[in-house]
Amino acid sequence: MTDKPGVLLLTPLFYGEREKLDTLFTVYEFKTKITPEIAGKVKALIGDGQAKVDAALMDTFPNLEIIAQYAVGFDGIDLQAAKKRGIRVSNTPGVLTEDVADMALGLFISLKRNLIPNDRLLREGGWLNKEEIPLSHSASNLNVGIFGLGRIGHAIADRLAPMSKSISYCTRHKKDVPWTYYDNVTDLAKAVDVLILAAPGTNETKGLVNKAVFEALGSQGVLINIARGLIVDEPALIEALDKNIIAGAALDVFAHEPNVPKALIQSSKVVLQPHLGSATVETRTAMANLVIENLQAFFAKKPLITPVI
Ligand code: NAP
Repeated sequence: MTDKPGVLLLTPLFYGEREKLDTLFTVYEFKTKITPEIAGKVKALIGDGQAKVDAALMDTFPNLEIIAQYAVGFDGIDLQAAKKRGIRVSNTPGVLTEDVADMALGLFISLKRNLIPNDRLLREGGWLNKEEIPLSHSASNLNVGIFGLGRIGHAIADRLAPMSKSISYCTRHKKDVPWTYYDNVTDLAKAVDVLILAAPGTNETKGLVNKAVFEALGSQGVLINIARGLIVDEPALIEALDKNIIAGAALDVFAHEPNVPKALIQSSKVVLQPHLGSATVETRTAMANLVIENLQAFFAKKPLITPVI
């Protein structure tokens, strides 16, 4: 009998057909102590949106053949290093689109309508004590700008179009959509009240949402980020909030997860989530099953279902 391929989980949680994973592969759990014997048996890594897989980690596993991302984003993987070593990479596009778009909408409405501070006020007795409850701001009839109009950006636009004054977007290539195109994020920010980030974290997008973008967005403007923390110049965001250059931000992702700057944690102008865009039972199950399908295809020498490289 041939040995089952070894698969190491770089993520603590893996939903889906776990039994199937265990039947097909020898699974090493998250935080397994990697002995040289185990390292030699690992042929596949399963990483999540926060996993960092660099050349040094790849070299820990001399027989590594594939990294199957349990995420659509693959900014944590050194693709050049993987290519050089002939290691394949797959991801889980599509199955998480609707939930991540819902998270953007939820963050946006929660920020504009003060849902979280007002929930806290009620629980702490502020309503009973007739505390003054400041008015919030409308989430409807605004000019919405979306940076990145792929699967998730488009799903966000579909949700917001019926309730907004206008939808604009910025991508590298103009899309065949009824919305207004901008070829740079600063001009997009200038035109809108709400800037929503839905582009990948890449060398090109790194730090792109900076001081100039916040100044263009303006003092009534808000930022929503469900994409990647590295797209935002985080110190510039903190300064923009502090100096009322923008009105607020709602963030699911951060530059150095799971570390979130104290200034953001203490700010009353932000809504924060610990990177949960795709974290529903339904979506995480579908993502896990797609990971298994990619691994099955790979070890059966068939084409990957959703290849990155
Ligand atoms: P996608 O379908 O590949 O869409 C990406 C979009 O970004 C495309 O419209 C692309 O258009 C645009 N884009 C790429 N580079 C750009 C640049 N330099 N400037 C402007 N636009 C650029 O990806 P998706 O499935 O929508 O996912 C988008 C991102 O969301 C992922 O990469 C991931 O990082 C993030 N995400 C976050 C969570 C979460 O839990 N918060 C969950 C899933 C995904 P052009 O090619 O024309 O530029």
